[in-house]
Amino acid sequence: MEDRFNAYLLRSEDPGLDSGPLAGRTVAIKDNISTAGLETTCGSRILKGYIPPYDAHVVTLLREAGAAINGKTNLDEFGMGTTTENSGYGPTLNPVDSSRVPGGSSGGSAAAVAAGLADLALGTDTGGSIRCPASFCGIVGLKPTYGRVSRYGLIAYANSLETIGPMARTVADVSALYRVISRPDPRDTTMQGRPYEHDPVASVRGLRIGIPAEFFGAGVDPRVSAKVQEAIETLAGCGAVIVPVSMPSMKYALAAYYITCTSEASSNLARYDGVRFGPGGESQRSWHDAFTAVRGEHFGEEVRRRILLGTFALSAGYYGRYYGKAQTARANVAGDFERLFGSVDLLAGPTMPTVAFRLGELADPLSMYLADVLTVPANLAGIPAISVPCGEVAGLPVGLQLMGRRFDDETVIDAAAAFEAEVTA
Ligand code: GLN
Repeated sequence: MEDRFNAYLLRSEDPGLDSGPLAGRTVAIKDNISTAGLETTCGSRILKGYIPPYDAHVVTLLREAGAAINGKTNLDEFGMGTTTENSGYGPTLNPVDSSRVPGGSSGGSAAAVAAGLADLALGTDTGGSIRCPASFCGIVGLKPTYGRVSRYGLIAYANSLETIGPMARTVADVSALYRVISRPDPRDTTMQGRPYEHDPVASVRGLRIGIPAEFFGAGVDPRVSAKVQEAIETLAGCGAVIVPVSMPSMKYALAAYYITCTSEASSNLARYDGVRFGPGGESQRSWHDAFTAVRGEHFGEEVRRRILLGTFALSAGYYGRYYGKAQTARANVAGDFERLFGSVDLLAGPTMPTVAFRLGELADPLSMYLADVLTVPANLAGIPAISVPCGEVAGLPVGLQLMGRRFDDETVIDAAAAFEAEVTA
């Protein structure tokens, strides 16, 4: 089938195996996940032509499970963005409405699944990059608990926040893909040895679901709020107990996220210097000049902006003012979740404050950052969060976000399955 949405950067024809839990299923892989022998660019011009010599742990697991890997998908360069417009290889279009963005940064993976070009896809979520495109394209996407999927072979953007996760058209498929990729791996020392081995049980009966008022605050499109409120009533109709709650730490969550991710990125991206990685051949110049030239020429604008922001935030004399404060705010977010999960089993709200933007609509970086306000808290705390379709506003999909306790991805998935069963019945 033709890729009319620029979902893929590279298509491949791995037939997969005849047996295994994913035999006969096609899987698209976000292009910041290493695939042996298949070009892996992270959506960046600086990695054009880079062919990893090894597979990421999740890719090894997919191959063993019989999956047919059918290509590498487009993304915002290194995962930095919310629209997939920051790719070095052109934007991906939203299959629901091709004048709109698919969301990001895993926009190619979401578009591939939504357009029926792949059964399943892997995305990565540092601050919402699985849930945002799932929401905008009308599919299901899970950000697993941090430490439940190996990051070995994931090309790093912000290590302490990011995780690989499953995307698919149904909760059952998300669960099936999650089962395959959630296996222990000694090469990622943040792994907690608690694989996901669950089969979804579509039920919310007796579950207490907290609704943080801050998730319906200013900046959230009232039509999106209304759709999500309807979804919450549906959950109540299925036997969930709805509990209004408050999350004061939301006020600083976005700022904490952007200081943390840019700081980590400024360090991670130092390796693209034209010597270790990136186009070289500048032997006539001094190292500083060559380094500056290769990075200036091949990194996109958003990546350069974030390297500068992160370098500044970490610089001597400013550490306490920015990075240190961000870590306090991050701890407050985790603390708020801890307190709330003492009295509720799940939290629910919108995934994104709006429906999919028009291409070019979020031209200024600050308004793009603001769109992440509802997804970053889960990354700051390492908790599981899913986006499941809950209807449309003006013909564009809206996502319901469900968040759970760390390592309780099972309850998150069960509740999403219950909601999905109820609305598709
Ligand atoms: N939109 C967020 C960012 O730009 C999240 C990206 C992600 O999860 N990779 O950082």
